[in-house]
Amino acid sequence: MIRLTGIVKRFGENTVLNGVDLDIPEGEVTALIGPSGSGKSTLLRTANLLEIPEAGTLEIGDARIVFAPDRKPPQAEILAMRRRTGMIFQNFQLFPHRSVADNVTEGLVTVWKWSADKARAHAMDLLDKVGMAHKADAWPATLSGGQQQRVAIARAIAASPKLLLCDEPTSALDPELAAEVVEVLGKLAGEGMTMLMATHDLRLADQIAHRVAFLDGGTIVEHGPPEEIFRHPTDPRTIRFVRTLL
Ligand code: ADP
Ligand code: MG
Repeated sequence: MIRLTGIVKRFGENTVLNGVDLDIPEGEVTALIGPSGSGKSTLLRTANLLEIPEAGTLEIGDARIVFAPDRKPPQAEILAMRRRTGMIFQNFQLFPHRSVADNVTEGLVTVWKWSADKARAHAMDLLDKVGMAHKADAWPATLSGGQQQRVAIARAIAASPKLLLCDEPTSALDPELAAEVVEVLGKLAGEGMTMLMATHDLRLADQIAHRVAFLDGGTIVEHGPPEEIFRHPTDPRTIRFVRTLL
């Protein structure tokens, strides 16, 4: 189980996350929806400790960190937690001056100290899985957005994270290219990858999410199966928001 409890994140006077509680069952996909500016990206960045919360508890598998205003966890603990996650972004964020294969091997070699040969072999397997092995030696800039995102997915799962965070993975893509990415994410979901995915893409959420969480006003307002949240929401804020998506 991956569990966020009482997560508070402020930027100056602006309290973006105001006590977020979210359980993400292992092997399931949770779609995170909510208005623009509601803190979806901040919540994902907090889940991998790119942002350090002011308060709350983060648990990923058997690792657990408690945050409090008067307690800064040691950097080693933060890095160890971060390494349990992988993340993909709206704009892919591949390393532009590295080949496709080197994008995937980079973390394995520098962080996990794999040999170059072992990392390359693993990268080729992952690129094959996302349908990108034929572009292993290409530069990212020569790829379509859908291809870049598929490489980014291969990179994000290279070190077998316990949690894959996806920040609007299809929103920069035309529908056709988005479909390639949805297919790959669906395949990972089918293999039991645990994911937390911010998205406005109803098709993506509906096709692959086991649960949908609606973030508004700094908290999770409603949380349940897609069927329930999209077709029978109960909170007035969810009802209003879901209407804007349809
Ligand atoms: P969403 O992804 O749901 O659109 P964000 O998490 O990007 O929302 O932003 C939520 C709020 O937090 C916004 O008001 C945004 O301006 C603010 N915010 C996000 N990141 C920072 C930051 N690094 N510094 C200051 N404010 C930030
Ligand atoms: Mg965002």
